[in-house]
Amino acid sequence: MMQDSITRRNFVVGSMAAAACASASVALAEDVAQWDQEADVVVVGFGGAGGSAAMSAFDAGASVIVLEKMPFGGGDTEVSTGGFLNVTDPEAAFTYIKGVAAFTVSETDEDWMQLYLNESVGMTDWVLSFCPEGTELIEYGKAQYPSLEGADSVSKFKIYPQNNEPTSGIPLFEALRSNVEDQRQIPVLYNTPAKRLIVDNGVVVGVEAIQDSAIINVKANKGVILACGSYENNDTMKRNCLIGETRILGTPGNTGDGIRMAQKLGADIWHMNGAGGCAWGFECGEEHQAAARPAMPTGGFIWVDKTGKRFFNEEKMERHSAFLGVGIFDTVTMTYPRIPMYIVFDENNRAAGQLVDSKTGFFGLHEYTWSADNMPEIEAGWILRADSIEELAQLINVSPENLAATIETWNASCESKEDSFGRDMDWGRPIAEPPFYAIPTYPATMGAQGGPKRNTSCQIMDVEGNPIPHLFSAGELGSQWGIMFQPGVAVGEALVTGRLAGKAAATME
Ligand SMILES: Cc1cc2nc3c(=O)[nH]c(=O)nc-3n(C[C@H](O)[C@H](O)[C@H](O)COP(=O)(O)OP(=O)(O)OC[C@H]3O[C@@H](n4cnc5c(N)ncnc54)[C@H](O)[C@@H]3O)c2cc1C
Repeated sequence: MMQDSITRRNFVVGSMAAAACASASVALAEDVAQWDQEADVVVVGFGGAGGSAAMSAFDAGASVIVLEKMPFGGGDTEVSTGGFLNVTDPEAAFTYIKGVAAFTVSETDEDWMQLYLNESVGMTDWVLSFCPEGTELIEYGKAQYPSLEGADSVSKFKIYPQNNEPTSGIPLFEALRSNVEDQRQIPVLYNTPAKRLIVDNGVVVGVEAIQDSAIINVKANKGVILACGSYENNDTMKRNCLIGETRILGTPGNTGDGIRMAQKLGADIWHMNGAGGCAWGFECGEEHQAAARPAMPTGGFIWVDKTGKRFFNEEKMERHSAFLGVGIFDTVTMTYPRIPMYIVFDENNRAAGQLVDSKTGFFGLHEYTWSADNMPEIEAGWILRADSIEELAQLINVSPENLAATIETWNASCESKEDSFGRDMDWGRPIAEPPFYAIPTYPATMGAQGGPKRNTSCQIMDVEGNPIPHLFSAGELGSQWGIMFQPGVAVGEALVTGRLAGKAAATME
């Protein structure tokens, strides 16, 4: 849970100052004047993967220290829905994943994928084994692409929320945190970002980190596990790896640090082309760069692109890979025509109730509680308002003729109960009552995928295919999913790879 309060702005300022201290090279053990801390295994990052890795390394007999950049642990794992995969038949699941890899034209390491799926059998029992007594899990869906062969062998589970709380990764991470800090008494050094790996003759022997503006050297006798997430808060890396403008739904700590550290040692990099994400992140103040869950109270809304036209069935938009669907680039107009898109609706829809799920912001953390009548959000300018369709079109810079024609067609569909995009028109309502509204929406990331490639022992591999001695990874850092991302795969991967990496590092000679 959160140890301290922090705003996005002061975190960014602080981390930029710390980053300025960091050099671009690895540190050499011979230059280390003094080791400030020492353990068999040093885990960098205290999210799901870091928590799982710390537990597993400790249980395999190693002493462990965890370094966490933020004043609190949890990372995207805590911010997430906390859903993870449980596999019943790993062979069928392998067929399914190969199907996903084929249609997304993605690289997979078959040995690694099979191991992951084998390890995902019985995940529900394993998660319950470290959660408090009385914890219940619910199955909330099957594989993302049900038409593929083998899809039935994969299910998504999450912790059943207590006291009507929204489902989130909070209870999952709290169970990990309690196992690490309370039950195993593993030290977690908060506000201590890892900056450089320390190397002795090519072997990783420790981590240089920043604590209270000073450098500390943390010795790792058996191994370092990089579990510090991906690069979603690193604008340069995003520009290099992702298409178009993206917003962030996750926590601010993940800036690709571990990827850069591993690259310095020659790590091979894969799956950087993808991020899990939805298409509807929208701005709601400085603290909340993107909100995830528009929940329109009536069917009186449409989604238009920058030309003012609809292009899909709005009710069918998928949450986890829709991100990819809007990232097209039009080489004639030289624009991303769907970045942003606009949710357009009228006064009847505005007055019918809350337009967004109440929990907004870093999903579950640093929340903004949306008002019941949407008026403060209109006053804040997050929702744009105009007295006419023409004025609204001007506000959002789309063709007034196109927008008017789109709305006319939509209203006619509400009458005829037939929609050319296949929307359920029993629920459709006309957009006719002024004032009119628009919310600009952007692709928004649920983390970013990829990073250093790992082998089946979670060792980070170099570009020649050799493990970098004593360097391991877990979780989203080095994720196998890329554009194959689907709900449940990432939290599952964090837990599984943490468990594998912790054991492998602890048993390293
Ligand atoms: C809104 C949202 C919903 C999601 N829902 C799901 C879902 O239901 N199911 C699913 O499978 N996936 C989901 N995801 C994705 C999933 O949450 C992540 O992929 C996964 O939790 C990553 O776990 P991790 O342990 O690798 O990284 P994180 O949990 O992000 O932990 C990384 C930690 O490393 C720390 N760190 C970063 N740099 C450093 C450094 N230099 N030194 C020390 N510490 C550092 C960070 O502060 C952070 O605490 C969701 C993501 C979001 C944002």
